[in-house]
Amino acid sequence: MIGILGGTFDPVHFGHLRTALDVCEVLALDEVRLVPCHLPPHRGRPVASSRLRAGMLEAAVAAYPAFVVDQRELGREGPSYSFDTLTSLRVELGAMPICLLIGMDAFRGLTTWHRWRELIDLCHLVVMTRPGAEIPAQGELADFIRLHRVAAADELRQLSAGRLLFQPVTRLEISATDIRKRLAEGRSADFLIPEAVSRIINSEGLYQGKQ
Ligand code: ATP
Repeated sequence: MIGILGGTFDPVHFGHLRTALDVCEVLALDEVRLVPCHLPPHRGRPVASSRLRAGMLEAAVAAYPAFVVDQRELGREGPSYSFDTLTSLRVELGAMPICLLIGMDAFRGLTTWHRWRELIDLCHLVVMTRPGAEIPAQGELADFIRLHRVAAADELRQLSAGRLLFQPVTRLEISATDIRKRLAEGRSADFLIPEAVSRIINSEGLYQGKQ
């Protein structure tokens, strides 16, 4: 069973990496694919180029064979829709269970995603929550949760797709927005991002004077 974590990764930080490792361990995933998006559909253009964001990810996970950077979105024109990415992963991986890892903040906006109802036909959804996080109780998303939710991670292995799990992960109040802001103000992002990522940011002069 493999996990997919998509994101802007502008830049990748320990909030992404530690939570992905938590899920990798709890679900005993064979691999986590980190998928940097080229053109995010729901926000403005990233600050760093796609090539540099992918390069920072590669540097961050170089010592972790279970974490693999998957650059398939960078080769596609137009907005980077998760639906298209999962369709192509499904072709590549056959019937293997695929878990799409998403943070609770991103999950709350799921109903705005391109072809969102069909995503669950292509993969399981693993929503990374904080202990005690509030799960949407009303509306379309609540109905979707009722339909697909399972209580335990081992239920994901029995099917290639179709199930939804809420998985508590380490709470880390780190965001790329905050990191870009610190760097733009000439402050340090040490201990929020891997050293190898800091080195690339410094050598490329990234995030200086921008947010
Ligand atoms: P930005 O601040 O630029 O919006 P971000 O730090 O939220 O960026 P993204 O690349 O947009 O990072 O996030 C990719 C995925 O990682 C999303 O599913 C998001 O919910 C999740 N994520 C980001 N930061 C954390 C964190 N600190 N803890 C848990 N999940 C996170």
